Amino acid sequence: MALSKATRLKKLRTLAESEGFASVDDMLAASICDSVVPAICTAKGCDYTVEMEPDQDRGWCGACGRNSVVAAPVLAGII
Ligand SMILES: [Zn+2]
Repeated sequence: MALSKATRLKKLRTLAESEGFASVDDMLAASICDSVVPAICTAKGCDYTVEMEPDQDRGWCGACGRNSVVAAPVLAGII
C-alpha cells in the first residue's frame, strides 16, 4: 500500500471520529475481536466509511467506486 504514514494517521482519525470513538486506540481496541471492523476509503477527497473484514486492504468504495477502502487494523499496521 502506497500511503504515507501521515495519510494513514489522518484516515484513522477521521474513521475513529465518524464511528464515534474518542481515539484511534479506542477504535483499534474495540476492533480486535470482531469479524468486521471499521474501514475507510483512502482515495483523496473521499472519506467513505463502512465495515469490512479486518485484513481488507482494497475494498470497494460505495462512494467513489474504487477499490480503495482499507480496514482500520491494516491502516494502523497491526495486520
Ligand atoms: Zn471512496
